[in-house]
Amino acid sequence: MTLVRDAREQLQAAKRAIYEYRHPNTAPATNPIIIDSKPSLHKAEDCELSDRVSLTNAVFAGTDNGLIKTTETVFFDIERFVLHLELYRYFHISEDPMDIDDIVPSTCLNLPETHTVGPKQIAQQTELTSYTSSLVIKKKRTTAGHQVMEAEELLSGCSIHQSTTAEELDRNYQEHEQCRESVRSFYYSNNQRKRRRHLELSKKRAHDRIAAAERKASGFKEGGKALVMFVGDRGHGVGSRIKGHQRGGGTWKQEIHGRDTPTMITNEYNSSHTCLFCFQKLSHPLQTIGDKVKTTNGSFICINDKCPNAFKVVCRDQVSALAIGLAGLASILFGVTFPCFDQQPCRLKR
Ligand SMILES: [Zn+2]
Repeated sequence: MTLVRDAREQLQAAKRAIYEYRHPNTAPATNPIIIDSKPSLHKAEDCELSDRVSLTNAVFAGTDNGLIKTTETVFFDIERFVLHLELYRYFHISEDPMDIDDIVPSTCLNLPETHTVGPKQIAQQTELTSYTSSLVIKKKRTTAGHQVMEAEELLSGCSIHQSTTAEELDRNYQEHEQCRESVRSFYYSNNQRKRRRHLELSKKRAHDRIAAAERKASGFKEGGKALVMFVGDRGHGVGSRIKGHQRGGGTWKQEIHGRDTPTMITNEYNSSHTCLFCFQKLSHPLQTIGDKVKTTNGSFICINDKCPNAFKVVCRDQVSALAIGLAGLASILFGVTFPCFDQQPCRLKR
Protein backbone atom coordinates (compact mmCIF):
# COMPACT_ATOMS: atom_id res chain seq x y z
CA MET A 1 0.00 0.00 0.00
CA THR A 2 2.76 2.48 0.93
CA LEU A 3 4.72 1.39 -2.16
CA VAL A 4 1.74 2.26 -4.36
CA ARG A 5 1.41 5.66 -2.67
CA ASP A 6 5.15 6.38 -3.09
CA ALA A 7 5.08 5.28 -6.73
CA ARG A 8 2.10 7.60 -7.37
CA GLU A 9 3.92 10.53 -5.75
CA GLN A 10 7.06 9.87 -7.84
CA LEU A 11 5.01 9.57 -11.01
CA GLN A 12 3.28 12.88 -10.30
CA ALA A 13 6.63 14.60 -9.62
CA ALA A 14 8.04 13.24 -12.90
CA LYS A 15 4.96 14.44 -14.84
CA ARG A 16 5.30 17.86 -13.24
CA ALA A 17 9.01 18.04 -14.21
CA ILE A 18 8.12 17.20 -17.83
CA TYR A 19 5.45 19.92 -17.83
CA GLU A 20 7.87 22.50 -16.39
CA TYR A 21 10.44 21.59 -19.05
CA ARG A 22 7.90 21.95 -21.88
CA HIS A 23 6.36 25.17 -20.54
CA PRO A 24 9.19 27.34 -19.17
CA ASN A 25 8.06 30.41 -17.24
CA THR A 26 8.25 33.55 -19.33
CA ALA A 27 5.45 35.65 -17.81
CA PRO A 28 6.76 38.68 -15.93
CA ALA A 29 5.72 39.15 -12.30
CA THR A 30 2.91 41.65 -11.81
CA ASN A 31 1.98 43.83 -8.87
CA PRO A 32 -0.42 42.05 -6.54
CA ILE A 33 -3.95 43.31 -5.83
CA ILE A 34 -4.16 44.39 -2.17
CA ILE A 35 -7.07 42.79 -0.33
CA ASP A 36 -8.59 44.51 2.69
CA SER A 37 -12.05 44.02 4.20
CA LYS A 38 -13.80 45.50 1.11
CA PRO A 39 -15.89 43.13 -1.06
CA SER A 40 -13.98 41.77 -4.06
CA LEU A 41 -13.64 38.69 -6.27
CA HIS A 42 -10.17 37.82 -7.56
CA LYS A 43 -7.83 34.90 -8.08
CA ALA A 44 -5.87 34.09 -4.91
CA GLU A 45 -2.50 34.02 -6.70
CA ASP A 46 -2.97 37.63 -7.89
CA CYS A 47 -3.69 39.00 -4.40
CA GLU A 48 -1.94 39.99 -1.23
CA LEU A 49 -3.62 40.53 2.15
CA SER A 50 -3.39 44.08 3.46
CA ASP A 51 -1.63 44.78 6.78
CA ARG A 52 -4.79 46.53 7.93
CA VAL A 53 -6.65 43.20 8.22
CA SER A 54 -6.06 41.82 11.70
CA LEU A 55 -5.35 38.10 11.32
CA THR A 56 -6.42 37.27 14.85
CA ASN A 57 -9.73 39.03 14.26
CA ALA A 58 -10.65 37.29 11.02
CA VAL A 59 -12.52 34.15 9.99
CA PHE A 60 -11.41 32.27 6.89
CA ALA A 61 -13.62 29.98 4.83
CA GLY A 62 -12.68 27.28 2.31
CA THR A 63 -15.31 26.06 -0.16
CA ASP A 64 -15.20 22.97 -2.31
CA ASN A 65 -17.63 22.53 -5.23
CA GLY A 66 -19.13 19.17 -6.09
CA LEU A 67 -22.08 17.36 -7.62
CA ILE A 68 -23.65 15.32 -4.84
CA LYS A 69 -23.17 18.16 -2.39
CA THR A 70 -23.15 21.38 -4.40
CA THR A 71 -20.78 23.15 -2.02
CA GLU A 72 -19.09 22.22 1.23
CA THR A 73 -17.62 25.04 3.33
CA VAL A 74 -15.38 24.96 6.41
CA PHE A 75 -14.53 27.91 8.61
CA PHE A 76 -11.20 28.24 10.40
CA ASP A 77 -9.10 30.82 12.20
CA ILE A 78 -5.45 31.82 11.95
CA GLU A 79 -4.50 29.42 14.77
CA ARG A 80 -5.53 26.42 12.71
CA PHE A 81 -3.55 27.76 9.75
CA VAL A 82 -0.46 28.18 11.94
CA LEU A 83 -0.90 24.61 13.21
CA HIS A 84 -0.92 23.16 9.67
CA LEU A 85 2.02 25.37 8.69
CA GLU A 86 3.95 24.08 11.69
CA LEU A 87 3.10 20.50 10.73
CA TYR A 88 4.33 21.10 7.18
CA ARG A 89 7.63 22.39 8.58
CA TYR A 90 7.88 19.39 10.90
CA PHE A 91 7.31 16.78 8.16
CA HIS A 92 8.98 18.36 5.12
CA ILE A 93 11.55 20.95 6.15
CA SER A 94 13.22 20.22 9.47
CA GLU A 95 13.86 16.86 11.01
CA ASP A 96 13.09 18.28 14.43
CA PRO A 97 13.23 15.74 17.21
CA MET A 98 10.33 17.68 18.76
CA ASP A 99 7.42 15.59 19.98
CA ILE A 100 4.46 15.73 17.60
CA ASP A 101 2.03 15.85 20.54
CA ASP A 102 3.49 19.26 21.46
CA ILE A 103 2.51 20.66 18.07
CA VAL A 104 -0.95 19.13 17.72
CA PRO A 105 -3.39 19.55 20.59
CA SER A 106 -5.81 16.58 20.58
CA THR A 107 -8.76 18.94 19.96
CA CYS A 108 -7.33 19.96 16.58
CA LEU A 109 -7.15 16.41 15.23
CA ASN A 110 -10.78 16.59 14.12
CA LEU A 111 -11.34 18.66 11.02
CA PRO A 112 -13.72 21.65 11.43
CA GLU A 113 -17.47 21.12 10.90
CA THR A 114 -18.77 21.85 7.43
CA HIS A 115 -21.66 23.94 6.13
CA THR A 116 -23.24 22.01 3.26
CA VAL A 117 -25.47 23.27 0.47
CA GLY A 118 -27.08 20.46 -1.54
CA PRO A 119 -29.00 20.40 -4.84
CA LYS A 120 -32.20 19.39 -3.01
CA GLN A 121 -32.04 22.45 -0.76
CA ILE A 122 -31.34 24.72 -3.76
CA ALA A 123 -34.26 23.22 -5.71
CA GLN A 124 -36.64 23.71 -2.78
CA GLN A 125 -35.59 27.26 -2.02
CA THR A 126 -35.65 28.35 -5.66
CA GLU A 127 -39.16 26.80 -5.98
CA LEU A 128 -37.90 24.52 -8.75
CA THR A 129 -39.37 21.52 -6.90
CA SER A 130 -42.91 22.95 -6.89
CA TYR A 131 -42.54 24.05 -10.54
CA THR A 132 -41.54 20.55 -11.69
CA SER A 133 -44.16 18.76 -9.60
CA SER A 134 -46.95 21.02 -10.93
CA LEU A 135 -45.78 20.31 -14.48
CA VAL A 136 -45.83 16.56 -13.81
CA ILE A 137 -49.36 16.76 -12.34
CA LYS A 138 -50.53 18.79 -15.33
CA LYS A 139 -49.12 16.19 -17.70
CA LYS A 140 -50.91 13.37 -15.90
CA ARG A 141 -54.32 15.01 -15.40
CA THR A 142 -55.11 17.13 -18.47
CA THR A 143 -55.89 16.09 -22.04
CA ALA A 144 -53.17 18.40 -23.41
CA GLY A 145 -50.74 16.78 -20.95
CA HIS A 146 -51.65 13.28 -22.17
CA GLN A 147 -51.08 14.38 -25.78
CA VAL A 148 -47.64 15.76 -24.89
CA MET A 149 -46.68 12.56 -23.08
CA GLU A 150 -47.68 10.49 -26.11
CA ALA A 151 -45.82 12.84 -28.46
CA GLU A 152 -42.68 12.72 -26.29
CA GLU A 153 -42.74 8.94 -26.21
CA LEU A 154 -43.12 8.81 -29.98
CA LEU A 155 -40.34 11.35 -30.56
CA SER A 156 -37.90 9.58 -28.23
CA GLY A 157 -37.75 6.79 -30.83
CA CYS A 158 -37.33 9.18 -33.80
CA SER A 159 -34.05 10.94 -33.15
CA ILE A 160 -33.00 13.39 -35.86
CA HIS A 161 -29.38 13.35 -34.68
CA GLN A 162 -29.02 9.58 -34.78
CA SER A 163 -30.62 8.97 -38.18
CA THR A 164 -28.40 6.81 -40.35
CA THR A 165 -29.94 7.36 -43.81
CA ALA A 166 -31.47 10.34 -45.62
CA GLU A 167 -34.88 8.60 -45.78
CA GLU A 168 -34.84 7.93 -42.06
CA LEU A 169 -33.93 11.55 -41.38
CA ASP A 170 -36.79 12.69 -43.59
CA ARG A 171 -39.28 10.38 -41.85
CA ASN A 172 -38.13 11.45 -38.37
CA TYR A 173 -38.29 15.12 -39.31
CA GLN A 174 -41.89 14.72 -40.45
CA GLU A 175 -42.81 13.10 -37.12
CA HIS A 176 -41.25 16.04 -35.28
CA GLU A 177 -43.15 18.48 -37.46
CA GLN A 178 -46.48 16.78 -36.73
CA CYS A 179 -45.97 16.83 -32.94
CA ARG A 180 -44.62 20.38 -32.88
CA GLU A 181 -47.89 22.17 -32.28
CA SER A 182 -49.10 20.12 -29.31
CA VAL A 183 -45.71 20.24 -27.53
CA ARG A 184 -45.32 24.00 -28.07
CA SER A 185 -48.83 24.86 -26.93
CA PHE A 186 -48.30 22.89 -23.71
CA TYR A 187 -44.84 24.15 -22.71
CA TYR A 188 -45.23 27.70 -23.99
CA SER A 189 -48.80 28.42 -22.89
CA ASN A 190 -49.36 31.80 -21.23
CA ASN A 191 -49.73 30.17 -17.83
CA GLN A 192 -46.53 28.16 -18.21
CA ARG A 193 -44.53 31.18 -19.35
CA LYS A 194 -45.76 33.15 -16.36
CA ARG A 195 -44.65 30.38 -14.01
CA ARG A 196 -41.21 30.27 -15.64
CA ARG A 197 -40.78 34.03 -15.23
CA HIS A 198 -41.75 33.69 -11.57
CA LEU A 199 -39.23 30.85 -11.21
CA GLU A 200 -36.42 33.02 -12.64
CA LEU A 201 -37.16 35.79 -10.12
CA SER A 202 -37.46 33.48 -7.12
CA LYS A 203 -34.21 31.76 -8.16
CA LYS A 204 -32.31 35.01 -7.82
CA ARG A 205 -33.79 35.77 -4.40
CA ALA A 206 -33.14 32.22 -3.17
CA HIS A 207 -29.50 32.33 -4.33
CA ASP A 208 -28.99 35.51 -2.30
CA ARG A 209 -30.58 33.87 0.74
CA ILE A 210 -28.45 30.70 0.43
CA ALA A 211 -25.22 32.71 0.13
CA ALA A 212 -26.18 34.96 3.07
CA ALA A 213 -26.92 31.89 5.26
CA GLU A 214 -23.49 30.50 4.41
CA ARG A 215 -21.73 33.72 5.41
CA LYS A 216 -23.81 33.89 8.59
CA ALA A 217 -22.78 30.32 9.51
CA SER A 218 -19.20 31.55 9.96
CA GLY A 219 -20.37 33.66 12.94
CA PHE A 220 -18.21 36.59 11.78
CA LYS A 221 -20.86 39.22 12.45
CA GLU A 222 -21.51 38.21 16.08
CA GLY A 223 -17.76 38.23 16.76
CA GLY A 224 -17.28 41.52 14.87
CA LYS A 225 -14.66 39.80 12.69
CA ALA A 226 -13.62 40.09 9.06
CA LEU A 227 -14.56 37.21 6.74
CA VAL A 228 -12.25 36.16 3.91
CA MET A 229 -13.54 33.38 1.64
CA PHE A 230 -11.61 30.99 -0.60
CA VAL A 231 -13.54 29.11 -3.26
CA GLY A 232 -12.17 26.22 -5.32
CA ASP A 233 -11.93 26.77 -9.07
CA ARG A 234 -13.08 23.30 -10.19
CA GLY A 235 -16.06 20.97 -9.90
CA HIS A 236 -18.78 23.45 -10.87
CA GLY A 237 -20.32 20.67 -12.95
CA VAL A 238 -19.98 22.71 -16.14
CA GLY A 239 -19.09 20.65 -19.17
CA SER A 240 -19.18 17.36 -17.28
CA ARG A 241 -21.67 14.51 -17.18
CA ILE A 242 -23.72 14.76 -14.02
CA LYS A 243 -24.74 11.10 -13.77
CA GLY A 244 -28.37 11.71 -12.79
CA HIS A 245 -27.62 14.37 -10.19
CA GLN A 246 -29.42 17.68 -10.35
CA ARG A 247 -27.20 20.50 -11.54
CA GLY A 248 -27.26 23.24 -8.93
CA GLY A 249 -23.66 24.40 -9.09
CA GLY A 250 -21.94 27.11 -11.04
CA THR A 251 -20.18 30.31 -10.19
CA TRP A 252 -23.25 32.16 -8.85
CA LYS A 253 -22.41 31.69 -5.16
CA GLN A 254 -18.85 33.02 -5.38
CA GLU A 255 -20.13 36.01 -7.36
CA ILE A 256 -22.71 36.81 -4.66
CA HIS A 257 -20.07 36.41 -1.93
CA GLY A 258 -17.77 38.69 -3.92
CA ARG A 259 -20.35 41.48 -3.65
CA ASP A 260 -20.35 41.25 0.16
CA THR A 261 -16.94 40.11 1.38
CA PRO A 262 -13.39 39.51 0.02
CA THR A 263 -13.64 36.28 -2.01
CA MET A 264 -10.67 34.53 -3.56
CA ILE A 265 -10.78 31.87 -6.29
CA THR A 266 -8.19 29.27 -5.34
CA ASN A 267 -6.48 26.60 -7.41
CA GLU A 268 -7.80 23.22 -6.25
CA TYR A 269 -4.75 21.27 -7.40
CA ASN A 270 -4.18 18.18 -5.19
CA SER A 271 -6.56 19.55 -2.55
CA SER A 272 -8.78 16.50 -2.30
CA HIS A 273 -6.12 13.84 -1.81
CA THR A 274 -3.44 15.36 0.42
CA CYS A 275 -3.30 14.68 4.15
CA LEU A 276 -3.50 18.02 5.97
CA PHE A 277 -1.39 16.78 8.89
CA CYS A 278 1.63 15.19 7.16
CA PHE A 279 1.06 16.56 3.61
CA GLN A 280 1.49 13.20 1.90
CA LYS A 281 -0.88 11.55 -0.54
CA LEU A 282 -4.01 10.03 1.00
CA SER A 283 -5.35 6.62 -0.02
CA HIS A 284 -8.92 5.36 -0.34
CA PRO A 285 -9.98 2.89 2.36
CA LEU A 286 -10.48 -0.67 1.09
CA GLN A 287 -13.32 -2.88 2.17
CA THR A 288 -13.75 -6.63 1.63
CA ILE A 289 -17.24 -7.73 0.68
CA GLY A 290 -17.32 -11.53 0.31
CA ASP A 291 -14.29 -12.36 -1.82
CA LYS A 292 -14.15 -8.93 -3.49
CA VAL A 293 -12.17 -5.85 -2.45
CA LYS A 294 -14.08 -2.57 -2.82
CA THR A 295 -12.66 0.96 -2.70
CA THR A 296 -14.66 3.64 -0.90
CA ASN A 297 -14.33 6.75 -3.06
CA GLY A 298 -16.06 9.24 -0.75
CA SER A 299 -13.48 9.00 2.02
CA PHE A 300 -9.73 8.93 2.53
CA ILE A 301 -7.24 7.46 4.96
CA CYS A 302 -3.64 8.46 5.71
CA ILE A 303 -1.29 5.48 5.80
CA ASN A 304 1.82 7.34 6.98
CA ASP A 305 2.39 5.82 10.44
CA LYS A 306 4.20 8.96 11.68
CA CYS A 307 1.19 11.15 10.92
CA PRO A 308 -0.88 12.29 13.94
CA ASN A 309 -4.05 11.49 12.00
CA ALA A 310 -2.86 8.12 10.66
CA PHE A 311 -5.38 5.33 9.91
CA LYS A 312 -8.40 7.53 10.59
CA VAL A 313 -11.07 7.72 7.89
CA VAL A 314 -11.73 11.32 6.81
CA CYS A 315 -14.47 12.73 4.57
CA ARG A 316 -13.19 13.74 1.12
CA ASP A 317 -15.13 17.00 0.84
CA GLN A 318 -14.13 18.15 4.32
CA VAL A 319 -10.41 17.60 3.54
CA SER A 320 -10.79 19.31 0.21
CA ALA A 321 -12.60 22.38 1.59
CA LEU A 322 -10.03 22.94 4.34
CA ALA A 323 -7.15 22.35 1.92
CA ILE A 324 -8.55 25.03 -0.42
CA GLY A 325 -8.81 27.46 2.50
CA LEU A 326 -5.25 26.77 3.69
CA ALA A 327 -3.78 26.93 0.17
CA GLY A 328 -5.57 30.22 -0.57
CA LEU A 329 -4.59 31.83 2.72
CA ALA A 330 -0.91 30.85 2.26
CA SER A 331 -1.06 32.31 -1.22
CA ILE A 332 -2.37 35.73 -0.14
CA LEU A 333 -0.11 35.92 2.92
CA PHE A 334 3.23 34.79 1.45
CA GLY A 335 2.73 35.00 -2.32
CA VAL A 336 3.34 31.22 -2.54
CA THR A 337 1.28 28.30 -1.35
CA PHE A 338 2.22 24.90 0.11
CA PRO A 339 4.34 23.15 -2.58
CA CYS A 340 2.00 20.14 -2.58
CA PHE A 341 -0.94 22.37 -3.62
CA ASP A 342 1.09 24.31 -6.17
CA GLN A 343 0.61 23.11 -9.73
CA GLN A 344 3.83 24.78 -10.88
CA PRO A 345 6.12 24.98 -7.82
CA CYS A 346 9.21 25.83 -9.89
CA ARG A 347 7.59 28.85 -11.51
CA LEU A 348 8.63 32.33 -10.57
CA LYS A 349 6.17 33.89 -8.13
CA ARG A 350 5.74 37.57 -7.45
ZN1 LIG B 1 -1.14 12.12 7.23
